[in-house]
Amino acid sequence: MATVTDFTPGMRIAGCRIEAVAGRGGMGVIYRATELRLDRPVAVKLIASDRAAEPAFRERFERESRLTAAIDHPNVIPVYAAGEEAGRLYLVMRYVAGTDLRSLLERDGRLPPYRAADVIAQVGAGLDAVAVLSAAHAAEHALIGMLPLFTICDRWDVGGVSMAVHPATGEPTIFVYDGYPGGAGIAELAFDAADRHLAAAHDVVAACPCDAGCPSCVQSPKCGNWNEFLHKADAVTLMRVMLGH
Ligand SMILES: [Zn+2]
Repeated sequence: MATVTDFTPGMRIAGCRIEAVAGRGGMGVIYRATELRLDRPVAVKLIASDRAAEPAFRERFERESRLTAAIDHPNVIPVYAAGEEAGRLYLVMRYVAGTDLRSLLERDGRLPPYRAADVIAQVGAGLDAVAVLSAAHAAEHALIGMLPLFTICDRWDVGGVSMAVHPATGEPTIFVYDGYPGGAGIAELAFDAADRHLAAAHDVVAACPCDAGCPSCVQSPKCGNWNEFLHKADAVTLMRVMLGH
């Protein structure tokens, strides 16, 4: 069976030149590479072709690529590109020199407490970014679901995107936007109703009897991320903070 371990230095994929093997994981091989257009070092993860042929695996790969790309945090490795070329699934990421935690533990054994605390803090900060995104993403769905009560629209007329840290605001940011090019007046109506709209979204999610989110509160039938990274309880807290009570 063909594998991706036959990639050798000098070979090219996704606009990158392979330099050396950087690591091997369960899903494939990670290479140190050079992104030729920008002449910068990157890490290229190539998925073993036998895995890439499984539809369920491909779906998971695409989902994880999108979710990871939505997180902009210093402790989460940024994804530059993901896709398929010549039957290979690839992920192009920032190249981080050094080793991963598993290799470090295998090499050095148990870490001294101060090192362990530092590693946990770094992982925790990365997980915090995921937690913030999950709260914002769930609130975004609730806001989209409630918008038809305040504007003349259908939830399919409206789009949304959430980020743990948006480059323009430097803060967690939720966008709910008019889905028509140029706008159909939905955004203006929503802006005027913002406080009532937010309060209504909060009330619906807070009152929903489900445990962790359902189609009546934070799940959306049109979510581009398969309703993953949604945290119902944190969304309620986030909206309460936004409402100031
Ligand atoms: Zn629910």
